[in-house]
Amino acid sequence: MATGFFWDERCFWHSGGNYSFMAPVGGMVQPASSGGLPENPETKRRLKNLLHVSGLWAELTTRSSEPATEEDLRRIHPEGFLSEFRAIAKAGGGETGLRAPYGPDGYEIAKVSAGLAKGALFSVLEGATANAYALSRPPGHHCLPEWQNGFCLLANIAIAIEAALAEGKAERIAVLDWDVHHGNGTEAIFYGRDDVLTVSLHQERNYPLDTGDFADRGTGRGTGANLNVPLPPGTGHRGYLMALDRLALPAIRAFRPDAIIVACGFDAGAFDPLGRMLAMQETFREMTRAVMALSNDVCKGRLVMVHEGGYSEMHVPFLGHAVLEEMSGSVIRAVDPFADTLAKRQPGKAFDRWLDDMLGEMAVAM
Ligand code: ZN
Repeated sequence: MATGFFWDERCFWHSGGNYSFMAPVGGMVQPASSGGLPENPETKRRLKNLLHVSGLWAELTTRSSEPATEEDLRRIHPEGFLSEFRAIAKAGGGETGLRAPYGPDGYEIAKVSAGLAKGALFSVLEGATANAYALSRPPGHHCLPEWQNGFCLLANIAIAIEAALAEGKAERIAVLDWDVHHGNGTEAIFYGRDDVLTVSLHQERNYPLDTGDFADRGTGRGTGANLNVPLPPGTGHRGYLMALDRLALPAIRAFRPDAIIVACGFDAGAFDPLGRMLAMQETFREMTRAVMALSNDVCKGRLVMVHEGGYSEMHVPFLGHAVLEEMSGSVIRAVDPFADTLAKRQPGKAFDRWLDDMLGEMAVAM
């Protein structure tokens, strides 16, 4: 069975308005040559382009998916929130949250994006593909039930999970979020639940500023079913793998999920403008290998990746390509032209020892 790759051209047509990086254009702020917000189509479209150029595209089962239904959305988002989002989009677009603007097609495109996550998850749970990748855009992991933020308009992964649980296709699902920002939306939605484990590796105090602490372990029945691993700026290849091995993967193994969903952001990459980490192509390759091995052990290889952030248009395609090389078992390689220089610029032994001690203390406290 092949790897499913779920994508839709409409996701590249989502447009967030007139920004210069994170600042609204106006006054002293000149429009950006890159065309607005850092969350623009290029990083994602260029990953798809690279898959074509390398030939890996032909080895994947590529498809779109039905948009998420209104019923799917209402399992997470209240009707009042949805009707306001619909109305503002229809009137030409706008913004009600924080840094999550959209145009006139924002509502429909967000439903397509969530539908790709749902399609990928269902494909794996139904055994139609060995594993699957959803090139969702706009992203979803910051979105709260009633508040859009951080470029996220609908809670894509949560919508997919609730659809799968409602249709009896799974009973327990684990989410591993390795986007450089905290997966605060997914965490909040499942914070009191014991059937969905949420694990987030992220740069501490990046975004949001006030969430993502290690002490936040869930509440009520969900106590213990949330794990945050905040990492210091500058964490690189070895640090990410240590955090995965010592904390994230053991937590998922102990949870015994029916499937693992990775909130697959690439903004921990060393060139990312919205992160201050030093991950590189081999980091994403080895993290993918590790989570695949775990998924083979605990849930028959049922692994889904849902694209989140990642804002370096020249680097993200190489990071994503390595993930798909591993997921599909292909021998095709798109070698990262920046790999050598980044390997020479990883944190030193003193940093690694200090981080290892810190992770060890967290593992004891877990
Ligand atoms: Zn991010």
